[in-house]
Amino acid sequence: MDIDNYDVIIVGGGPAGCITGENIKNHKVLIIEEHQCIGTPLQCAGLISTNGVKELGAPRGCVNDIKGAYIYSQNKVIKVGNNKIRAKVYERKVMDKDIAIRASKNKNVDILLKAHGQIIEDKNKNKSRFFNKNNNYGLSINHDGNKYNAFPKIIVGADGAKSFIGKSANIVKKREILAGAQLEMANVDIDTDFVHVFIDNRYCKDFFIWIIPMGKDRVRVGLCDSSNSYNKLLNFINNHPIASNLLKNAVPIEFSVGTLPIGYNKSSVKNNLMLVGDSAGQIKPISGGGLYYGAKSAKICGEIITNYLSEELPVNYLKNYDKQWKQQFKREIDFGIKFRKILYNMNNNSLDKILEFIIQNDLINFINDNGDMDRPSTILNEIISSKIGFKI
Ligand SMILES: Cc1cc2nc3c(=O)[nH]c(=O)nc-3n(C[C@H](O)[C@H](O)[C@H](O)COP(=O)(O)OP(=O)(O)OC[C@H]3O[C@@H](n4cnc5c(N)ncnc54)[C@H](O)[C@@H]3O)c2cc1C
Repeated sequence: MDIDNYDVIIVGGGPAGCITGENIKNHKVLIIEEHQCIGTPLQCAGLISTNGVKELGAPRGCVNDIKGAYIYSQNKVIKVGNNKIRAKVYERKVMDKDIAIRASKNKNVDILLKAHGQIIEDKNKNKSRFFNKNNNYGLSINHDGNKYNAFPKIIVGADGAKSFIGKSANIVKKREILAGAQLEMANVDIDTDFVHVFIDNRYCKDFFIWIIPMGKDRVRVGLCDSSNSYNKLLNFINNHPIASNLLKNAVPIEFSVGTLPIGYNKSSVKNNLMLVGDSAGQIKPISGGGLYYGAKSAKICGEIITNYLSEELPVNYLKNYDKQWKQQFKREIDFGIKFRKILYNMNNNSLDKILEFIIQNDLINFINDNGDMDRPSTILNEIISSKIGFKI
């Protein structure tokens, strides 16, 4: 393999990495993925808004359409949604592979599996600096027992929530990380059109629990929290009055874990290194959905890289990527971080009151007409300011 052949090396073969590669035109790109198969292991509930699906290029792998949600607090429940399809449930393994196949149709993109990338440390300098002689980061790639050192014009860290690439370049600093645990279960008799969302701090403190139908008979049930997620999930499945009844005959057929980053970094670009997707914190803090923001940002990243390389622009030009994706999503993420803090500091009594408030004030139709899974700040602020009298 001629590693010096590549203008851009992307670390991570998830959706963000592959969509970035797909959108880099006329320059040689290598995507490296540490696992032996794109799309595994699963770390996702696979629920994507219809807008998100469009942004991802309508990949293969959809297993169910979703029209709304039942939202439960300890003692109340509301049903939002109607006949309109608002989201789709995906088999991520199929989806991720399909996106990778699409990227590979771009003739300048190669994919290397079982290849782990790591920023080269400059031993002669301070440990936090990793520049080579051109002030560029270099990459050490371990593939099948062979080690290669690469100095491409650009490195993209699309390496997910933990982003060791971002951390070793000191871009990704301390941020809140939630741990997710999820079971796919068969033999569940469920209305396939609606997801079930439980906000109940007897079972989960810092996030929510979901039951997502994957079509007839099959669901994903999972939660994220700051600690002990698997035991909390088992407790929920066995003891929650509604869930334990719904899942009484359910048999687990897939277990998955994953991490969710909350919040972004000061910059997602440093010299010739760019971060995209979860590594850059492109995630909705309220729902944990990252696929829509990641896909849209990956396109921006690919376009900026193409311009930079084609027009031989100064390296500072790459910072436009940071500006542009934050123009799209910073406001939503900032709102989500604040809203989450308020929501998860509430006790179950207050959460019951919120659902009761929505019912009493006839807000369900308003939510159905105006709600947007990807940009919840607009409707939430409208409800909060008109009914309670302040804005977040
Ligand atoms: C429990 C859970 C449920 C979720 N549910 C949803 C949902 O329903 N809807 C939604 O939109 N989002 C959801 N998300 C978030 C979603 O999964 C992520 O936002 C999305 O996968 C991010 O894509 P990505 O390409 O940035 O990262 P990833 O999909 O994590 O891909 C990163 C890739 O990089 C590879 N990699 C990492 N380090 C290296 C390295 N050093 N060298 C080589 N390869 C490397 C990894 O193997 C991986 O394949 C969920 C997350 C969790 C944890």
